[in-house]
Amino acid sequence: MAPKLAIIGAGMGGLTLAAALHPRGIAARIYEQAKGFERLGAGIQMSPNAMRVLRGIGLEPRIRMTAFQPRTWTNRDWDSGALTNELPLGGEAETKYGAPYLLMHRGDLHEALVSRVPAGQIELDKKLVDLDWGGRGVTLRFADGSKAEADAVVAADGIHSRVRELWLGPEKVNHTGRVAYRTTFPAALLNGYAIDQCCKWWGADRHIVIYYITANRDEVYFVTSVPEPEFTVESWSATGDLDQLRSHFAGFHEQVQRVVHACPRVHKWAIVDRDPLPGWGKGPMVLLGDAAHPMTQYMAQGAATAMEDAVVLSRCLEAEPHDIPAAFQRFAMARRERTARIQGTSQQNTFMRQPTNPDWVYGYDAWSDPLPEYA
Ligand SMILES: Cc1cc2nc3c(=O)[nH]c(=O)nc-3n(C[C@H](O)[C@H](O)[C@H](O)COP(=O)(O)OP(=O)(O)OC[C@H]3O[C@@H](n4cnc5c(N)ncnc54)[C@H](O)[C@@H]3O)c2cc1C
Repeated sequence: MAPKLAIIGAGMGGLTLAAALHPRGIAARIYEQAKGFERLGAGIQMSPNAMRVLRGIGLEPRIRMTAFQPRTWTNRDWDSGALTNELPLGGEAETKYGAPYLLMHRGDLHEALVSRVPAGQIELDKKLVDLDWGGRGVTLRFADGSKAEADAVVAADGIHSRVRELWLGPEKVNHTGRVAYRTTFPAALLNGYAIDQCCKWWGADRHIVIYYITANRDEVYFVTSVPEPEFTVESWSATGDLDQLRSHFAGFHEQVQRVVHACPRVHKWAIVDRDPLPGWGKGPMVLLGDAAHPMTQYMAQGAATAMEDAVVLSRCLEAEPHDIPAAFQRFAMARRERTARIQGTSQQNTFMRQPTNPDWVYGYDAWSDPLPEYA
């Protein structure tokens, strides 16, 4: 009989895992703490390694219809606008990597992933509070007093993973002392002023990334990294002060000025990460995505690597459905080195500032990358 799997968290990683497992005949139930899904005001970059994941679960045509494919990703000096690096991302990159580089609304991506999970497989308003995985199988306990049983559990519950805490005890995240201001807004508010399709503006101690997130370029997104050590709130809903945002970018190039002055509101998020973990689980429990390897957003690879994890885990479970702990170990072995390298490179925040070869990031194919032998 196929194993019964519990996935904690209906974020990018958890949803991709359920979507990848379904055609393999492995039943997974997702338990999500939220009462419903909100359309968060954020953009997201899906690089070719992530688009290959989406292609494999049947979402590429849908994503292509709404997402924006930029011609290039430009990197510029903050004040002069001098080009420091220009990475082709249009047809040339698509031919090279066999998949496109697309920019989109985070809500569109999340909605698309939800559409690939069979109805009834996601249980909302189920906040996991406790977990017993000492005996045969796993018992999950939720904040509403209910409980559920499964053969194994995958923790896709994000950077503040409750499962990780139950396993390793309380740990502190790494506070970078920096803040991501971010917002999406109608391009019409720029009053016809032309901006780069996708550009990272590099200052001495701060940056801003600006790009379109819709195929018809009617919506703009930006995300920053600026020093603000006193602010430590991580939340998709916390709002920021527009004057403070604008003062952070005083003196930046006119394109940046136009964008930060056009946006009508802004959100604010303290940037944190964690260092790589030596192991990702124990017995019938494993961590995935941000629960295992949270990173700063400077390479735009957090969701991409969570989705890659999901595919590799689905392959390991298909290969070894009757020994889940072995499948989990194999999955962690397959993924640790790559994700640790991306976490470390993201921490440095130099990726793409100067000409850089990104083949090791974008060329990866989670569907075919060889799985390691069992330990
Ligand atoms: C400003 C910003 C910009 C970013 N830009 C990009 C980008 O362009 N490209 C990219 O690839 N990545 C990007 N990332 C990173 C990306 O958002 C994350 O890495 C990604 O969302 C991780 O996916 P996940 O499924 O592991 O966790 P999450 O998406 O955080 O999902 C975790 C889910 O678990 C649920 N949950 C948590 N605790 C419980 C519990 N106890 N019980 C039940 N459910 C629970 C949560 O409600 C949530 O739905 C960005 C991040 C930030 C902050």
